[in-house]
Order: sequence, then C-alpha cells, then structure tokens
Amino acid sequence: MSDCIFCKIANKEMGKLIYEDELVAAFDDVNPQAPVHVLIIPKEHIEKLLDIQDEQHKELLGHILMVANKIACERGIADAGYRVVVNCNKDAGQSVWHLHFHLLGGRKMHWPPG
Ligand code: AMP
Repeated sequence: MSDCIFCKIANKEMGKLIYEDELVAAFDDVNPQAPVHVLIIPKEHIEKLLDIQDEQHKELLGHILMVANKIACERGIADAGYRVVVNCNKDAGQSVWHLHFHLLGGRKMHWPPG
C-alpha cells in the first residue's frame, strides 16, 4: 500500500531494516519501550491480526515467531527473557494499520500489562 509507513520501511523507501527475508522485515521501533524493541512485519500488507484467515498465512505466522526467536538470540535477550506482543484494533492500542509483532526485552517486564 503506497501510503502505509510500514510498507515503505519494508520496501526500503525509509528507515533501516535489521532483518529481512522473502516473507518478513524487521526494524527497531522508533519509540522503544525496552532496551530491545524490534518490530517484525510481513512484507505483504495485512492490516491487522484479525485479517489472518487464509491457510497460507499459517506458515507466515509461524515464520514470524521463528524470526522473533532468531533476533532475540542475536540481540542477547533470549536467555533472560523476552516478550512478543501483537496489538489488534483500537482497545489493544493498535496505532499502525500494518500487522506487526513487537519483540521486547532487555529489562524486567510486568504482567499483566496496563
Ligand atoms: P502499535 O501501537 O501496536 O500499533 O505499535 C506501533 C508501533 O510502531 C509503536 O511502537 C511505534 O513507536 C512504532 N512506529 C511508528 N512509526 C514508526 C517508524 N516510522 N519506525 C519505527 N517504528 C515506528
């Protein structure tokens, strides 16, 4: 989508990717909530988690979580612990309408979140 900021980042029209492959791209969050705060997105423009309904997306979702593990290891937060979060729709706080997985770590986190 031409006016989607995350599509622009995935297409390297802006920002800087820390990881990419055929299916996904990842980059540091501009407003980090933890020492490590990476966003992992599908290259395909999917607005939100609720729109994941095709069989073909099962592979994509599994792949995103494996990429989260890989980045967590590379960033040195795997052993201490990390969190993967998806906000879907307004009450969850979704503010960018391109599906993204937050990978957070590097500090002690609390549960439940506010
Ligand atoms: P959410 O509130 O779950 O939709 O998360 C959106 C996230 O995108 C927030 O953590 C923002 O800080 C982050 N964000 C927004 N614009 C950019 C950008 N241009 N580059 C990196 N992160 C961004």
